[in-house]
Amino acid sequence: MVKEIQLRITLKEEERDGILVLKSALKLDIDREDITGIKILRKSIDARKPKIILNYKVAVYIREPLPKHSEYKFNYKDVSKAKPIHIIGFGPAGMYAALRCIELGFKPIILERGKKVQDRRRDLKAINQDHFVNEDSNYCFGEGGAGTYSDGKLYTRSLKRGDVRRIFENLVFHGATDQILVDAHPHIGTNKLPKVVQNIRETILNYGGKIHFEARVIDFTIKNNSIQAIQLQNKKNLPVEKVILATGHSARDIFYLLHKKQIALEAKSFAMGVRVEHPQHIIDTIQYHCSGERHELLPAASYSLVEQVKDRGVYSFCMCPGGFIVPAATANGEVVVNGMSPSKRNNLFANSGIVVEIDINKDLPKYESFGALKGLEYQKNLERLAYTAGGRSQVAPAQRLTDFVEGKLSSDLNPTSYQPGLKSAPLHSLLPKLVGSRLRKGFQAFGQKMKGYYTEEANIVGVESRTSSPVSIPRTETLEHPQISNLYPCGEGGGYAGGIVSAAMDGERCAEAATNSL
Ligand code: FAD
Repeated sequence: MVKEIQLRITLKEEERDGILVLKSALKLDIDREDITGIKILRKSIDARKPKIILNYKVAVYIREPLPKHSEYKFNYKDVSKAKPIHIIGFGPAGMYAALRCIELGFKPIILERGKKVQDRRRDLKAINQDHFVNEDSNYCFGEGGAGTYSDGKLYTRSLKRGDVRRIFENLVFHGATDQILVDAHPHIGTNKLPKVVQNIRETILNYGGKIHFEARVIDFTIKNNSIQAIQLQNKKNLPVEKVILATGHSARDIFYLLHKKQIALEAKSFAMGVRVEHPQHIIDTIQYHCSGERHELLPAASYSLVEQVKDRGVYSFCMCPGGFIVPAATANGEVVVNGMSPSKRNNLFANSGIVVEIDINKDLPKYESFGALKGLEYQKNLERLAYTAGGRSQVAPAQRLTDFVEGKLSSDLNPTSYQPGLKSAPLHSLLPKLVGSRLRKGFQAFGQKMKGYYTEEANIVGVESRTSSPVSIPRTETLEHPQISNLYPCGEGGGYAGGIVSAAMDGERCAEAATNSL
């Protein structure tokens, strides 16, 4: 017999071995010996009150063996001689599109502008240390896309759009910890992701798929409203039948190419702001109501904040407890910040994007002449502004949080995790009013919600500009582009995803749509 129950465990109880068995036996009023195994289905922390509670949902196996893991069978088959599907981009959308093609009996041929995960590392070092951005290999471009050296949080709001569990099971199948199947806020960590990505590559190759690295797509040959061939930067021309375009939201050259070829694009609302960085102990103190160090069983605390300021949402985005701020530019001449954390989340800082919603229909009148690319041009201008304010390198412009709100240049800055370094700059006057004034009000409101959050011990760092795509690529109900019958816009760059999990789900969907019509 199997019974599903909820358990509430205090931190003190959690320290005891066998506590889940004991509490289950008490709750079900059975002997401990009758419990043959316990499967944790969900775990979350309730830190709303000083007495912190761990909430567990468990399946208790009573006189019945605990089954081996995994409900899902991934039915990969040899596709080396099967019909090809071309996939541009090997981020989460491209990877999951390729895996799904293999399950469905089609051969994925992937074209990725960047390098394999291991070779990417050198280029990341060059950004951090030499301030040189390789425009094909950086925090956004390369094997695994923006998802590889990301934070690896696996939260998604798109629960209705697909089977999240299937995405998670496939990550576990490729080496991610099975803890992600249980945690209320699953997280893989930047140190663990490259291995998972490498394992996905191996599955694709082992079953007969092909991956071309350092293969940037620069043009399409279009006839009779369909793509006949793809042109690569190395001058190779590849004839194609179906193309899944999963190039992410930072592939501006792809947006420019489509625009030049008069393939319909649409301007999309997005968000823009800064990254705020606090010492982790301040966030722990606020969230766990503790005065010194957090309890050793508790993870670095996180937060999620939102405030409505003058008709626009101001909200925290991609909060990274125990993490680092990273330089996520994809070209020289721009500064873009983002965040990540290792699986243990044991760095001394807590950082988060704090961004303001940009309403594409109202907020950018000066950019109207750019048509569908107006948001992209606005985004680009702010990234250039950050580059200039930082001193024309990957050094990022920054300000103490309190100085930003009070409108003062900071005479000095707090320590930071951002490796290229920070330069004090008057972000309060540099950022457009649309963003800057709302951020200032938003931070004050956040200080009311979380006492201690509004502190001079925090820095803000500019700019957090790539939260989502400022452009979308339309598609019909069958997921093709309305003008180009064999082009399947996919993932975050198409405007159909906002993170690793939703991009992966969209990749699967596009693979199903593209193969369905073959
Ligand atoms: P991408 O991951 O952007 O992949 C696109 C791929 O296409 C890239 O590999 C690129 O090299 C390739 N490409 C681009 N142009 C071309 C071309 N012309 N020819 C060939 N190939 C091309 N999301 C989360 O859910 N949780 C997180 O914790 C998280 N943390 C993040 C931290 C950082 C530092 C960053 C940068 C992002 C983070 N994200 C996070 C966002 C997440 O990584 C993206 O939402 C996700 O990767 C989007 O997937 P995608 O496949 O649509 O696009």
